[in-house]
Amino acid sequence: MTSSHVERIPATLIAGDGIGPDITASVTTVLDALGAPFEWDKQEAGLGAFEKEGTALPEKTLESIQRTGLVLKGPLTTPVGKGFRSINVTLRQKFDLYANVRPTQTLVPGGRYENVDLVVIRENVEGLYAAMEHYLPSGNDPQAVAYGAGYNTRTECNRIVRFAFEYALKNGRKKVTLVHKANILKILSGLFLEEGRRVAAEYEGRVAVEEKIVDACAMELVVKPEQYDVMVTTNLFGDILSDLTAGLVGGLGMAPGANIGETMGLFEAVHGSAPDIAGKGIANPLALMMAGSMMLAHVGRLDLSQRLDNAMKHIIEVDGIRTRDLGGSATTEDVTQALLRAI
Ligand code: NAD
Repeated sequence: MTSSHVERIPATLIAGDGIGPDITASVTTVLDALGAPFEWDKQEAGLGAFEKEGTALPEKTLESIQRTGLVLKGPLTTPVGKGFRSINVTLRQKFDLYANVRPTQTLVPGGRYENVDLVVIRENVEGLYAAMEHYLPSGNDPQAVAYGAGYNTRTECNRIVRFAFEYALKNGRKKVTLVHKANILKILSGLFLEEGRRVAAEYEGRVAVEEKIVDACAMELVVKPEQYDVMVTTNLFGDILSDLTAGLVGGLGMAPGANIGETMGLFEAVHGSAPDIAGKGIANPLALMMAGSMMLAHVGRLDLSQRLDNAMKHIIEVDGIRTRDLGGSATTEDVTQALLRAI
C-alpha cells in the first residue's frame, strides 16, 4: 500500500530535551518506514522552548495539540528554580487526560520474570493527589498535625473503570483487576470499588473481573506478576504500582506510558531527558518506541502495532541488540537500523 492510499492522521510531535531529539528521531524513522499513518506537526516544549521563547509550553504547541488530539512527546527537562510548573501536570489538567496507561511486558529474556504482560491503568486527576493539605496546631506548635484529604467522584470512578474494560476489549485482554483499599478507606476507596463492580457487571461474559486489596496486590506483583492482565486503580495506588511493574522488566528504558482523555491521547516514555547521556547517541529508544506502538493501537492500527512489537522482540531476543541500560553496547542508531530490518 502506498502512502497516498492511507488516511493521514495529523499528530503533534514534541522532540523534547536531552536524549529526546535522538529517541524521537529513531521512533519517527521506524514508524514512517512501517507505514504508520501519522502526519507529524513538529512543535517545541520544555527547556529548549523556554530558552528560545521564554515559555516551556508555547501557545502554538498548545494549539497544535488541541487541533490534532494526538501527541508523541519526548522527555522534557523541568528547569529547576525558575518557578516552573510541571508541563506534564499542566497538559494532564488542561486536556483532562484522566487515564494513565502503563503496559509492562517481558522483552529482555534472562531477567527475573519471563512472562509478564500486564497494563496498569491509573486514574490521573483526583484521589489523594488532589493535595488538599494543611497543618493543624497543637500546644505551641502551629504545625503539630499534618492533615490531608482526597476525593473520588462516582463519575470519575465509573469513567476510569469503564476505560479499563474498553481497553481490555480493544486490546484482546481477558481480565480486569480492580485494585482498592476499601477494607480501610471504606468511603474513599469504597466508592471506587462500588462503581467498579457496577461497571464490571456490564461487561460480564466478555471480560473477567477480580478484586485485589492494594497491599496484597503489591506482594503478588513481586511473587507472581504473570497472573495479572489489566489492572485499574485510583491515582496514588496507580502511581506506586506502575513504577513497581516497570521495575519488574528492565527499568525505565523499557517503560512506555500514555495519557488518555475523551478526545486526546498523549504518548511518551516514562523516563526523563537523561542529561547524563544526552548527545552521546547511546539512549535506549525502545520505551518511546513502545509508546509509538501504543499510539498505533490507539488509532486502530493494531496490525502495525503488533508488527512493531514483534520487531522489538526480535531485535532483543534474536539479534541480541541491547543498549547500555540493558547491559549491552548498542547505540540508538544500531537499534533504529535493526528495527528497520526487522519490521
Ligand atoms: P531520567 O529518567 O532522565 O534518568 C534517570 C537515569 O536513567 C539516568 O541515569 C539516565 O541516563 C537513565 N535513562 C533514562 N532514560 C534512558 C534511556 N532511554 N536509555 C538509557 N538510559 C536512560 O531521570 P532524571 O535524571 O531524574 O530526570 C532528568 C530530567 O527529566 C529532569 O528535568 C526531570 O524533570 C525530567 N523528567 C521528565 C519526564 C517527562 O517528560 N515525562 C519524566 C521524568 C523526568
